[in-house]
Amino acid sequence: MKIGVLALQGDFALHAKALARVGAEAVEVRKPGELDAVGGLIIPGGESTTLLHLMDEWEFFPAIEKFHAAGRPLFGTCAGCIVLAREVERPRQFSLGLIDVTVERNAYGRQRESFEAHGVAILDGEPTAMEMVFIRAPRIARMGPGVETLARHGGDAVLARQGSVLVGTFHPELTENTAVHRYFARMVETSR
Ligand code: GLN
Repeated sequence: MKIGVLALQGDFALHAKALARVGAEAVEVRKPGELDAVGGLIIPGGESTTLLHLMDEWEFFPAIEKFHAAGRPLFGTCAGCIVLAREVERPRQFSLGLIDVTVERNAYGRQRESFEAHGVAILDGEPTAMEMVFIRAPRIARMGPGVETLARHGGDAVLARQGSVLVGTFHPELTENTAVHRYFARMVETSR
């Protein structure tokens, strides 16, 4: 099973490693045409404004909309979550709107640029303890009725899913725990 990792900016290499650890074949995607060869796509963390600029330049917006319309799963972490959200605040910026959430960028303040937290994710009904690494993380401030919470931190959803779209505000690729990548690989597997 081939899963793409958008490799324009950010920490795509670590996602590719995590996918390999769960037995998926990771493919770095740098051009929209390369999406034809993959069953799902991870949009990594990085800097969302830079990422959006590069995605626009390479004409990824219509290609990802088509990919989503074809039922192929998307997983956005951190900046990737910001890019996939319906609405982005602080400041407002363009987003693809493929999951019905509103996110606030850099929501945890300067003194907490990055931090780790222990949390529990409920993946396929199984509670899974995990370390969550947050880096200049956004906060999911609003979730639409069709969005399911898979993990929380301090009352906020930090891993959420709507249909074929999964978003996380933390970085599962930075820890040894591969549960989230395994979960996404199953989403891709069952979407075929
Ligand atoms: N703060 C970044 C942004 O707003 C996201 C940070 C990250 O992806 N780790 O785009």
